[in-house]
Amino acid sequence: MNINEKIRYEKDEHLTILRVTESAYLIEDDRNATAYVVTGTQRALVVDTCFGYENYAEVVASITDLPTIVVNTHAHGDHCGGNGYFEKSYIGEAELPQYENATRPGARTDGAPAACPAEVLHEGDTIDLGDRKIEVIHFAGHTPGALCLLDRKERILYTGDSILGRTVYLFMQNSVSVSEMKKSLLHIKEFSDGFDQLATGHGRTLDPVTYIDALIDACDTILAGAPADRFGTIEVHGMTLPCCYYPGENDMQATLIYREDLVR
Ligand SMILES: [Zn+2]
Repeated sequence: MNINEKIRYEKDEHLTILRVTESAYLIEDDRNATAYVVTGTQRALVVDTCFGYENYAEVVASITDLPTIVVNTHAHGDHCGGNGYFEKSYIGEAELPQYENATRPGARTDGAPAACPAEVLHEGDTIDLGDRKIEVIHFAGHTPGALCLLDRKERILYTGDSILGRTVYLFMQNSVSVSEMKKSLLHIKEFSDGFDQLATGHGRTLDPVTYIDALIDACDTILAGAPADRFGTIEVHGMTLPCCYYPGENDMQATLIYREDLVR
């Protein structure tokens, strides 16, 4: 595949594979999940496993035959649903309780385990792909133990659902407070000399780093309670929730959706 080439995955019409850089591939599931494969010289990093409607190990094998290291950015079923096709994965420590009970809408039903055992990664750990080491950064926000992964060689930050260009869900059962979210965003900026683009957990291509400042501004706006024209409400999962607008994909207004009890 050439860079920027996009192909349909032959065994599942919902999946496409887009080669985004020399060594990174974006796997888009049109049921609304995005995962990545990053190939080094000795190993490949698998960032999330989508829903698991298909044999995800085979999807990865269609891209590379390198041995794989699977990391879940967090424990939601659209990010770890395909873990059952691997022997083990890595995840942030505070995600473990959720990982055990994650809803995996597409998880395998052939009698094999729906998920593999997960081991813990911490801030500062690295994942050795041979030609470079991917750095692990903890990001408490959307979920408390989410991980971002920094590839300084290709200057990409893999963000999962912690930073997104269309909407950020800061209303999950275990989402952190708005001020903790802001703290995590400021922490990520400490690494900003290492990346120029974001690979997000629901992106369709690589995204600009400007979402980080836009989300910091949204957090400040929520904490200040003004100006009023930055706020709205949105229906999601059958609930009406408050949101704050920030500049997102294709100059569209994106929404940071939150809960009033997290405004602190
Ligand atoms: Zn999520």
